[in-house]
Amino acid sequence: MQAVVKKNDQVEVTIEDIGSEGEGIGRYEGYTLFVKDTVMGDIVLVQVMKTGKTYGYARMIKLLQPSEFRVEPRCPIATKCGGCQLQHVDYKKQLEYKENKVRNCLTRIGGFHDFTMEPICGMEEPYYYRNKSQFPVGKNKDGGVAIGFYAGRTHSIIDTEHCYIGAKVNVEILSFLRTFIEKNNLEPYEEETHKGLVRHILTRVGYSTGEVMVCLVINGNTVPNKEELIQGLLNIQGMKSICLNVNKEKTNVILGEKVIPLWGEPYITDGIGSISYRISPLSFYQVNPVQTKKLYDIALEYADLHGDEVVWDLYCGIGTISLFLAQKAKKVYGVEIIPQAIEDAKTNAEINEIKNAEFFVGAAEEVLPRKYKEDKIYADVIVVDPPRKGCEQSLLDTILTMAPKRVVYVSCDPATLARDLKYLCEKDYELVKVQAVDQFSHSVHVETVCLLARKCVEIQ
Ligand code: SAH
Repeated sequence: MQAVVKKNDQVEVTIEDIGSEGEGIGRYEGYTLFVKDTVMGDIVLVQVMKTGKTYGYARMIKLLQPSEFRVEPRCPIATKCGGCQLQHVDYKKQLEYKENKVRNCLTRIGGFHDFTMEPICGMEEPYYYRNKSQFPVGKNKDGGVAIGFYAGRTHSIIDTEHCYIGAKVNVEILSFLRTFIEKNNLEPYEEETHKGLVRHILTRVGYSTGEVMVCLVINGNTVPNKEELIQGLLNIQGMKSICLNVNKEKTNVILGEKVIPLWGEPYITDGIGSISYRISPLSFYQVNPVQTKKLYDIALEYADLHGDEVVWDLYCGIGTISLFLAQKAKKVYGVEIIPQAIEDAKTNAEINEIKNAEFFVGAAEEVLPRKYKEDKIYADVIVVDPPRKGCEQSLLDTILTMAPKRVVYVSCDPATLARDLKYLCEKDYELVKVQAVDQFSHSVHVETVCLLARKCVEIQ
């Protein structure tokens, strides 16, 4: 379709939907325009910025009629910050958007029409939920210290001390560290020149224990006045671990490999249900503890364990789901590609005195077929929780060959989820039920748990 508008045209559009990045989607004479910071139901005057064959981008000039789903964001920098894309959308509507996103992917990409979709599991209080925050440190325009968040799609730092989805204790931590950095003339890191010392501030909070970790990510080996730093941070309630992380690389990756403990242990402990987990600065750990408990409970319910099952937990991270499952299974095997995470998983099994969990380092798509070929392994249930790109087809083929009774698929990307489920269900599985969980309130991301059951094979 030829664009019916050109750059700089001003037109009126009604926003009908929200796109995958949280931008509003409207149509002008059938031509699709993406408009940032709008909500479905808004009527807006926009100026066209860029046009392509099938769609274009426009910016809102005037909100002619606000949608009933539009709310005032609590956070004053919500629209500038890249962290929250949906804070200006009523939370109930956010949940509906996420549930629809999952349903649409399963229908359009997966070709599923007949499955049970349970209502999305939302938060009661969708604020201050994150147990991990990473604040970039840099220079502001006047050469002073800027600590905050990156603006959407850029690396310019919006100075702030209060994040409405991070732990409340961060406000106190940032306030002290800002003064400490300024007073001791610590140079903030500059990406362009790769000069300066302080790159990021990482905080972690144990939701059930109240334990707090602060880790300064530095482009160097140490910081001056360590004692003052430690004493200042010890005034913060729950402080358990103060560390440095050395990152001297010219990279966007936040953490380097080396952790230097300054005070306390280089980890904190948190609990989900009755299991304790040890979390170090580098560990992957789900960021929303309240929702993680719900997510794992659903996964456990879908796995339907009675105590005599062999379960494989693929992409197991630090063994969080594995240990949850081990409480009800005969044996759980976890597979994860990052060696350090497997070390943590083993420690976590030990501190919880869980003896029926075993862990392997390696790519799931290599470990599983190898173990199947060499050791003739078996599975009653397979749980997968892959990163956004989903599972390799070869892994799905191994699952089909191993033929577990049930597959529980935990996913952070509905599109790759739908693709993978389609592949499994074209063969021997059927999609029984699906539930979305809001792990990332105010962002566009959504987590989903699905239960697949092996179709009954009729005996001739
Ligand atoms: N189930 C865990 C972690 C899920 S995140 C939890 O709930 O905490 C996905 C994990 O998959 C990450 O830990 C990542 O390191 C791991 N991973 C990525 N690619 C992998 C692969 N090919 N094989 C095994 N693990 C992989």
